[in-house]
Amino acid sequence: MTDADPYMQERHEMVERQIRARGVSDPEVLEAMRTVPRHLFVPPDLQRLAYQDRPLPIGGGQTISQPYIVAVMTELLELKRSDRVLEVGSGSGYQAALLGRIVDRVVSIERLPEVAAQARKNLQRAGIANVTVIVGDGTQGYPEEAPYDGIMITAAAPGVPEPLIEQLAEGGRLVAPVGNRDVQDLVRLIKRGGEVTSTTFGGVCFVPLIGRHGWRERFYDDLL
Ligand code: SAM
Repeated sequence: MTDADPYMQERHEMVERQIRARGVSDPEVLEAMRTVPRHLFVPPDLQRLAYQDRPLPIGGGQTISQPYIVAVMTELLELKRSDRVLEVGSGSGYQAALLGRIVDRVVSIERLPEVAAQARKNLQRAGIANVTVIVGDGTQGYPEEAPYDGIMITAAAPGVPEPLIEQLAEGGRLVAPVGNRDVQDLVRLIKRGGEVTSTTFGGVCFVPLIGRHGWRERFYDDLL
């Protein structure tokens, strides 16, 4: 970033105080968070809040997650440069941008076309060119580019969608918030020798993953 970046100082402080001080230590994750301009991924009137320790609304009832949670989930993927990564829930595109700084290839799926369009714009403004944002139901994954070494779901899932487990490469890691619509646990699956092991980390709170292998829309729930 150049001196012209008005938020560089705040961003570095965010990494030191909110991320490193709480135990995230992967140098690639920390460096990505120091360089990706988070303020370009929030609505203009919220830019001054972009480096605070909290999620923010991005329109369409969706959110950009708290920086610390983004960092923890990224670290749990244990990425290396050559990994292929799938993100489910593009939102603002910020998480995908970080992933794109760490690995060569990222596919991100977003179910809401207008949210996906804004994510693409944000990524372009931030100069991230190795992320493709696709509109679709991410609970079905994206078989066209499978298998993936890393899969991250950034919306609350009732369980890990089976197609995503199938699209995980041997040795691949999947990180997701799994629970009910109000509160979830962060879960990491690792696929080894065709077997999948699961580890649970702390509690989190995400907007719902809506789709064939996720939740139904509240609108339809209410009608039933
Ligand atoms: N990763 C995002 C970021 O960096 O800003 C934050 C994601 S936001 C918490 C969750 C996103 O998941 C929303 O944009 C929502 O529309 C999307 N979503 C929900 N269900 C989905 C599905 N089945 N497939 C793809 N996206 C989905």
